[in-house]
Amino acid sequence: MRPPGDEQATRCGGPAFITNEVNLAPESTMPRTAFKDKVVAITGAASGIGLAIAHKFARQGAAIALIDMDQTALDQCEQAFHNSGYRAMAVTCDVTDPAMCATAIKTVIDHFGGIDVLVNNAGITQRSRFADTRVEVFHKVMAVNFFGSLYCTKAALDSLIERRGMIIVNESVAGVTPLLGRTGYSASKHALHGLFTSLRCELREKGVHVLIVCPGFIKTNLQTRALGADGRVTDRPQSRVGGQATPESAAEEIFTAAVKKKHLLILTFMGKLGYWVSRVAPVLYEKMMTKKFTDEIQ
Ligand code: NAD
Repeated sequence: MRPPGDEQATRCGGPAFITNEVNLAPESTMPRTAFKDKVVAITGAASGIGLAIAHKFARQGAAIALIDMDQTALDQCEQAFHNSGYRAMAVTCDVTDPAMCATAIKTVIDHFGGIDVLVNNAGITQRSRFADTRVEVFHKVMAVNFFGSLYCTKAALDSLIERRGMIIVNESVAGVTPLLGRTGYSASKHALHGLFTSLRCELREKGVHVLIVCPGFIKTNLQTRALGADGRVTDRPQSRVGGQATPESAAEEIFTAAVKKKHLLILTFMGKLGYWVSRVAPVLYEKMMTKKFTDEIQ
């Protein structure tokens, strides 16, 4: 399976795309009942963490709405879910378009009767020095990461309140710490943090839970599609601290955090370390992180 953009990424020398073939085998242990027969709508569900979350909830007996703009990958994912006997529907949607988000969420509600869990996961990143980066790149990153989540949440809100449901937001450690060379990405994730911690306060009395997830580095297509200063997919090498976790392990932890109704989940050892160092000694964190990432924007 070669998602759109694969050719471009290969041509510009970026890392190869990771295929969307997840292991759709049933759970080896007994599924928990917390999300059985619940309706889970996931944006950015045709790849990476979103697809792994979709698979995890499907294996636990939930009905899944796979929402993504990549129609080819989406159709293949839907087919794979159906072949495995899971309840799933695919909805093509570019989350930067508020009308498409409203229609997509309505399609899911009409089909399944409502939404119990909305996973705001669709996202893109950017790797470039602030001074070199065109303003359009910031608009694009904000449009997908921040406004995409806002539009889908607005559209699903009544149903989530009616069902006393849950919003899961896939943020990033860059949503709670600074990150050199990703000013646009980090800003979009900090914006999500402000939006959803505040919204949590408005929704608590209505019984809607908000779980914020901050992953460290996970092996997905995110960096393969990263935008450069000019808005095109960049071929500049990525800096990383520590190894990369798998989307499947991330989805396992996200599912457990959802069952436990956690408020904040920081993923990966380096993610947790970065989060705590930045809390306890913010200037030290800035200096250490700058040293690690500075090659990327030289
Ligand atoms: P990915 O590129 O594998 O998946 C992202 C998905 O979002 C793709 O299927 C893509 O088609 C979809 N998407 C992009 N723009 C869209 C749009 N406008 N409308 C609808 N769908 C769109 O990357 P991933 O790592 O699985 O990313 C998922 C989320 O996890 C993102 O929000 C990302 O910021 C976050 N995250 C990832 C990492 C990591 O290391 N991979 C770390 C922290 C946070």
